[in-house]
Amino acid sequence: MQNVIQLLPDSIANQIAAGEVVQRPASVVKELLENSVDAKAKSVQVIIREAGRNLIQIVDDGLGMTETDARMSFERHATSKIRTSDDLFRIRTMGFRGEALASIAAVAQIEMRTRRAEEELGTLIRIEGSDIKAQESISCLPGTNLLIKNLFFNVPARRNFLKSNSVEMRHIIDEFQRVALANPEVAFSLFHNDQEIYNLPAGKLSRRIVDMFGKSYREQLNFCEEQTPYVTVHGYIGKPESAKKARNEQFFFVNNRFIRHNYLHHAVVGAYEGTLPEGSHPFYVLFIDIDPSHIDINIHPTKTEIKFDDERSVYAIMMAAVRKAVGLYNLSPSLDFDS
Ligand code: ADP
Ligand code: MG
Repeated sequence: MQNVIQLLPDSIANQIAAGEVVQRPASVVKELLENSVDAKAKSVQVIIREAGRNLIQIVDDGLGMTETDARMSFERHATSKIRTSDDLFRIRTMGFRGEALASIAAVAQIEMRTRRAEEELGTLIRIEGSDIKAQESISCLPGTNLLIKNLFFNVPARRNFLKSNSVEMRHIIDEFQRVALANPEVAFSLFHNDQEIYNLPAGKLSRRIVDMFGKSYREQLNFCEEQTPYVTVHGYIGKPESAKKARNEQFFFVNNRFIRHNYLHHAVVGAYEGTLPEGSHPFYVLFIDIDPSHIDINIHPTKTEIKFDDERSVYAIMMAAVRKAVGLYNLSPSLDFDS
């Protein structure tokens, strides 16, 4: 009998992986923003054209890459963030799979300029559908500047499947908001077709929330905090009367990673004890810090669910934290917004 199994070439493997990692322009924005944060950027600029169909550009002032790393970064399963399987249980970075750049490169035209601060020259790499088209030394600022052009140029079905610009832009803004809320000490800006959507200076979380959602939030936030040996909860919740019908201003972050969690949402709502107007959802930005060995984040790259080993404890602590904060309601300390 003749054997028939063959290993797929990298370019095809990458394209298949891209189908999962890169669902729409917003997925690219998420992955690149997370890379900038992991690279310890202090300031990150996002420039979008045509809702990301034509251009997604992310410029950071982070660590940058050497020439060899710049090339390696587009290989599948190539990462600087973990080395051993034990590292999977102590992940503190946003990335660790080493799949994002390889996947994006499989379905777009990329230009990357990157330089480490201690090096005089940086590297320019052009790559298109996984093929490296050019690589040269150039002068550029320290940090990384990535241009993603013509997303899905070689996957017409995916390109045609994209929704209207306003829907795609809504997804991009959602991803941007999540990363910007989780990292208030980093400055972020977002432009769409030359129009400024956000320009957020570095500062405290309370300031970031107000800059992002509007000045009316100044009087609406209550600080929230609860600590146990198992988990720490901190952040801000909105006062009951500021609750809205729409359910898009609720943010949980576990070790700085945005997650959705209906069970914990239920804990928060429960803590308001009937003070919420009928059918409305309270505003919250809540951070859950927990030893990474107690959670499983090794789930699908685009999914935002998470598993805790003791979910009931997290529920109880969350409820206690929010209950206390709701109770503070009339004597909330004045917030310091000028940092
Ligand atoms: P992961 O983030 O899971 O490691 P990626 O494909 O997103 O995988 O990135 C691969 C590697 O490229 C990263 O581990 C990192 O070393 C490097 N890298 C990517 N983006 C940046 C950036 N903006 N600044 C510095 N290094 C980066
Ligand atoms: Mg990454």
